Amino acid sequence: MICSYCYESHITPKHDVGHWWNNPKDSVYVCSDECYDKLEKLVKERTWMSHRPSAMFGKKEHKPSSNFEK
Ligand SMILES: [Zn+2]
Repeated sequence: MICSYCYESHITPKHDVGHWWNNPKDSVYVCSDECYDKLEKLVKERTWMSHRPSAMFGKKEHKPSSNFEK
């Protein structure tokens, strides 16, 4: 199960949002209230198709340095 907003995998589905795309029940989920609200906004603005979370491409920033030690 993958969250349709943050693309986190292995989520515990919190909201079924398939109806936004006329998808059958139990096919599209988000993992949290936050993702639900944000995805709903994208759907209403019709910008969800250009939504590309950094998680899909790996994080280029905030990578801990290999020599980072406490
Ligand atoms: Zn999510």
